[in-house]
Amino acid sequence: MNHLPQPEFLPVSKEELEDIGIDRPDIILVSGDAYLDHPASATALLGRTLWDAGYTVGVIPQPDVKNIKSLMVFGSPRLFFSISGGSMDSMVAHYTPARKKRSEDAFSEGGHPSRPDRATLVYTDLVHRIYQDAPIVIGGVEASLRRFAHYDYWSDRIRQSILADAPADILIFGMGEQQIITLAECADAGRNLKDIHSIAGICWKTSPKNWADQNTEINSGVIEIPSFSEVNDDPSLFVKSTNLIADNQNPFNNCFLLQRHPKTLIIQNPPALPLSTENLDRIYDLPYKRRAHPRYREPIPALESIRFSITSHRGCYGNCSFCALALHQGKIIQSRSTESVLREVQRIALMPEFRGTISDIGGPSANMYGDMCERWKTKGTCTDRECISCRIRSSGFSEYLSLLDDAQAVQGVKHVFIGSGLRYDLIPKGGETMSHLCAHVSGQLKIAPEHISPGVTSRMNKPSQDIFDSFREQFEGVQKGRNPKQYLIPYLMSGHPGCTIKDMIFLAEYLRDNRLYTEQVQDFTPTPMTISTCMYATGIDPRTHEHVHVPKNEEKRVQRALLSWREPANHSLVMEGLKQAGRDDLIGSGTTCLISRSGHNQNCTGKERTRAKKKGKVIGTFARHHMNDH
Ligand code: SF4
Repeated sequence: MNHLPQPEFLPVSKEELEDIGIDRPDIILVSGDAYLDHPASATALLGRTLWDAGYTVGVIPQPDVKNIKSLMVFGSPRLFFSISGGSMDSMVAHYTPARKKRSEDAFSEGGHPSRPDRATLVYTDLVHRIYQDAPIVIGGVEASLRRFAHYDYWSDRIRQSILADAPADILIFGMGEQQIITLAECADAGRNLKDIHSIAGICWKTSPKNWADQNTEINSGVIEIPSFSEVNDDPSLFVKSTNLIADNQNPFNNCFLLQRHPKTLIIQNPPALPLSTENLDRIYDLPYKRRAHPRYREPIPALESIRFSITSHRGCYGNCSFCALALHQGKIIQSRSTESVLREVQRIALMPEFRGTISDIGGPSANMYGDMCERWKTKGTCTDRECISCRIRSSGFSEYLSLLDDAQAVQGVKHVFIGSGLRYDLIPKGGETMSHLCAHVSGQLKIAPEHISPGVTSRMNKPSQDIFDSFREQFEGVQKGRNPKQYLIPYLMSGHPGCTIKDMIFLAEYLRDNRLYTEQVQDFTPTPMTISTCMYATGIDPRTHEHVHVPKNEEKRVQRALLSWREPANHSLVMEGLKQAGRDDLIGSGTTCLISRSGHNQNCTGKERTRAKKKGKVIGTFARHHMNDH
C-alpha cells in the first residue's frame, strides 16, 4: 500500500516515477487519449482514485503501435495493466457517419489522430505479446459497449464480445472506480485475476468445460442469452439478445448474463451499485490540474471545451433509443453534494487561466441533477415503466438552479452556464422558471428534440412535437425584450431507423414554417449496443417486434441533405428526395418551395443565408431566425 501524496501529474515516464521514489507502478493505465489531468478524463479519474486508495499508477497515453517500446516505458506492473480505447469508441472517433476517415481527433495532441482503429484490441494484443504473464483489464466506453456480441457498423457485421477477441482477463463496464480498486485489492492479496468472478460491474470469460464443472451461486442466477453464432445467423435472436441485455442491467438484481462464443463463454456480473454522494464527492475532490500533461507541445483540442466544466452527476433515465449511456453509467442518477461542486468552483476560480466563466455544471442530461426515487436506493429502476414520465420520481430542478446561482456567487466567477444537453420535457412550465434557467444560458441553449415526426420520435423514444413546441414558445416568450437574445440549439437527426424521406420533408417544412435554420445535423450512426442499432442491423424494433424501415447509403444521404436543404451543395440530393416522395409542389419559386428548379434554394435570400451562416457558426444546428421580429 502506498501512502505517497498525490503527484503533480500521474507519471508518464520512468524518470517521473523515480522522481517520486517509485521504481515500479502497481497499475499501468494505457489509454487511447492524450493525458488530460481533468475529472472528465477517465485516465485522470481512475489514476487519481487508485492513488488515493493507496496504489501507484503509471500512465501510457496513446502508445505508438509501430514502436512497441512505447508500451515498455515502466516495464511490467506489479498488479495489472488497465487498457482503454479512450473517451470515445475509437471507430466513432475516427469515422464519419458516412464511414469516411476523420482528419481530426480532439483527444490527441494538436488534434492529429494518434490512436489505432479498434484501439482497445490493438493495445491489448501488443501488451500481451510483450508481457505474456501480466494480467490485463480492459475498460472504457469502447470495451463497455462491446462486452457482448454486437453489430459493428464499420465492418457491417456482428462481432464477438471484445473480451472474446482480446487477450484480456477481465472487462470492467461502467465508470469503473469501484471495480478497479476492488481488483487492485484482490491482486494485491495475491489472487489471480483469471479466478475473480464475483465483483459487480465486470465481465469475465471461461471455457465451456470450466463452466460446466463449476457449480456456484452464479450458475443459479445466470440468464443465458443467444450465443454469438445464433445472433450472427438469426436477426430475431439478435433482437432477443438486445432485450435480455437491456432488461437485465439492474445493479440490485443478482442477475448474471452468459453468452456462448465459439471458443469461450462471456459472463456479465450484475452492474456495480450506484456511487453514493460521499464517494462521488471524494473522487471529484481529488487534486486534478485541469491541464494537459507538460509533455505535450501542441494543445489538445478537447481540453478547451472541458477545462472549466464541472460534472455534477452521473446516470440518465432518458432512455433514448440511439444512446447507450444507461448501459455504461446506468439509469440511476448519482449526484454530488452542492458543497463538493462549490469546492470545485472555488478551486477553478483560483486558477491563473480562469477568466470568470464556468462553461458547464451538468451531466449526461444537465437537469437531472438531484433527481431521486426511493426505489433507486434499494431496488433499482422499474422494468414496467419509465422514470422519465413517472410522478413518483422527485425532481431536483430547483436545487440545480440554486446550485448554478451559488456557483455564480463564488468570488472570481462571473458566469455559470449550462453546457450539457437539457431534457426540455422535464422543465417545469412557467415564465419565472424559464427566466431563471436563461440566466445561465450563454446565448445558446442546447436541447435534443432530434426530430418532430411522430413516427420517428416514437422509434427514438423522444418527446413528441407538441412538447418541443411548448418549450420553444416558453423560451421565445422569455426572449421578448431580452437583449442580447438567446438561441436554442436543438440537435436534429436524419437517417434513424423508422425515418423515411417523407418524415424528413415533414421536418423540413416544419423548419421552413417556423423559419428555423439548421447548420450541422447528426446523421444517425449505429453505435454498439443501442436499441436503434438493433433496429438498423435487423430491421426490427426490439421493443415492439415490428418491422421498421431502415434508411441506408443513398437514402441516408438524401435524408441528411433534406435537413440542410438551403445548402446549395445539397440541391441535387434534395431534388431527388422530393421527386421520390412525389413532392414536386416543393420545387419551384413559390414561397413554400424548398428548392428551385435551377439549383438555387428557396426561403432564404443571399443576405439571409450569409447572416445565417455567420449566426450558424455561433448558433450551430438551429437558430430562431428573426427572433427579434416577434
Ligand atoms: S417508481 Fe418511477 S421513478 Fe422510481 S424507478 Fe420506478 S419508474 Fe422510475
